[in-house]
Amino acid sequence: MKCRQCDQKASIHMRQHKLALCKEHYLEWIPEQTARFIKKYGMFTPNEKILVAVSGGKDSLSLWDILVRLGYQADGLYLGLGIDAGINYSHESQRLAQKFADENNLKLHVVDVEKEYGHSIPALSEISHRGHGRPCAVCGLAKRHEMNRIARDFGYDVLATGHNLDDEAAVLFGNTLKWSSEYILRQSPVLPSADGLARKVKPLCRFYEREMTAYAIMRGIEYIYDECPFADGSQSIFYKEALNQLETARSGAKLIFYLSFLEAKKSGHLFVEKNVGQSQLHSCPTCGQPTSTPDFCSFCRMIQKAAETPDQ
Ligand code: SF4
Ligand code: ZN
Repeated sequence: MKCRQCDQKASIHMRQHKLALCKEHYLEWIPEQTARFIKKYGMFTPNEKILVAVSGGKDSLSLWDILVRLGYQADGLYLGLGIDAGINYSHESQRLAQKFADENNLKLHVVDVEKEYGHSIPALSEISHRGHGRPCAVCGLAKRHEMNRIARDFGYDVLATGHNLDDEAAVLFGNTLKWSSEYILRQSPVLPSADGLARKVKPLCRFYEREMTAYAIMRGIEYIYDECPFADGSQSIFYKEALNQLETARSGAKLIFYLSFLEAKKSGHLFVEKNVGQSQLHSCPTCGQPTSTPDFCSFCRMIQKAAETPDQ
């Protein structure tokens, strides 16, 4: 198969777009499309300062690479979660995030949760759940809190994450199976800033995971191949596999599912939004971040509890 733009042999065929491109044109197409999505969803302007949450994986490093290539002022934030689980996941992912920053002369903020708060994510999870279940709830809480804190403290206008279409479709699929209307309505390529919370954007939300893998490889970006060890067997992987089966039978199924959702949401045909009341927010007395829980925010409460728990 040949590239649509030139006579070269195509390096990637995107069946859902009926589009095949050679390496050179693919590496142009991805940033062009990203720029289009940034504009279409009103994510940010060229003058705004962007903080990219980088995990050392292909999506977040590619996102950083694309934004820099498009001329945006984008710094990175790496959160050290203290996840080892035999493969030294956190150590290796930090090394690759730092390597990318150094090679491209970019600024990377590094926050080590254990150094900052005295406990790693698995340890915090152990304390708050007494060892039951995965650390993902604690991890998600800590990531949201720390990303927002760094964005606020260093004056970033917007926080960008590398969620791709497979991630977004899996979240939507899971929430749809449970009809979690509040979560469904909140899902969006852009979450506007509110009450001390930074604006959050997902510029890669319309790219398939395989498209991002291809981009990272063609750009020669070195990234961590392993998923976090705690992702294994998770619900989101189960939903991704189910959607992959749909995609195999009907190419474009994932994209249609996600884009039709965005359309329905935009047209107001999804749910009656007024039934989903915004909870009242106030500032946490410890960290100053907005929270709907009485007194301290959930993150500060977790840290307080961990500090009061004697070491085992
Ligand atoms: Fe955190 Fe790993 Fe769970 Fe992802 S899979 S939320 S990185 S613990
Ligand atoms: Zn707090």
